[in-house]
Amino acid sequence: MDYIICFDIGGTFIKYGLINQKGQMMFKDKALTPKHDIQTLLPELIIEKVKLLQNDFAITGIGISSCGLVNHEKGEILFSNNLPGYSGMKLAETLFKSIELPVVVENDVKSACLGEMWKGAIQGKQNVVFLTLGTGIGSSIIIDGNIVNGSHQLAGELGHTVIVANGRTCGCGRRGCYERYAATSAFVNDYIEEKKKQGVILENVSGEQILQLVNEKDPVASMVYKRFISYISIGLVNIVHLLNPEAIIIGGGIAEQTEQFIQDINIVIKKEMMPIYHNQKDLVFPSTLGNDAGLYGACYLTLKKFSHLQV
Ligand SMILES: [Zn+2]
Repeated sequence: MDYIICFDIGGTFIKYGLINQKGQMMFKDKALTPKHDIQTLLPELIIEKVKLLQNDFAITGIGISSCGLVNHEKGEILFSNNLPGYSGMKLAETLFKSIELPVVVENDVKSACLGEMWKGAIQGKQNVVFLTLGTGIGSSIIIDGNIVNGSHQLAGELGHTVIVANGRTCGCGRRGCYERYAATSAFVNDYIEEKKKQGVILENVSGEQILQLVNEKDPVASMVYKRFISYISIGLVNIVHLLNPEAIIIGGGIAEQTEQFIQDINIVIKKEMMPIYHNQKDLVFPSTLGNDAGLYGACYLTLKKFSHLQV
């Protein structure tokens, strides 16, 4: 049996897991992402975990799902805005020199999308859009079973398509970007702003906590939630009219919180879509692999690249 050790490198944690060629997760854990000297400390950490598991398992490859912009062919990190020193890292080459195992690196949202396609919410589907709602909006587009990369690996940045002309300023330099309205952080900020109008200063509140208040029929939370669903839906209907996908999968903590959240989106997009698109019951589904989707996707890519895939 082949085993792939997979890592999901994020701004705060590095999640890792051992997955066999059938796609069964044998073991998983997480470690803190190094905050300095990442080009030295990250390979050290990965190699330490690989060597430890090699004592008990025949590991045949390393699959890495990483934050930032990734050159999948070369296994390099092209750009990362949340890990200092990470941009430009030749991750696959560095690891291979030390451990002589094949290494595959892909962007975390693309990996998560492939993970959902292999073992999660969209098995058997060929035309799918995957979004993760968090601090920003990550997105990946699959057409005819293949990830759409564009001419320079830059395709699929739905978070930076504009939904409000002259709207809120965005880190990308534009105004009115989708993620400034429909990311979880926007939902939280909207709620904090509305409470401030009432003289209530909030510092720490999570999207999940606000959803709980919506369940309890809190009027401010409900108003902000309705607006949030409406903003999310504007972007999704644009996607539907542009790509006519079989499914849109939404990941990120908030999407996995309640079934109601996804159902509310389905209700609103159905009202907004042109009637000719109303040919299936629901179009939007929650991620079923959650935080593990990136690990499964990294495993799938590694197995596929080295022809070990038996599915
Ligand atoms: Zn933007």
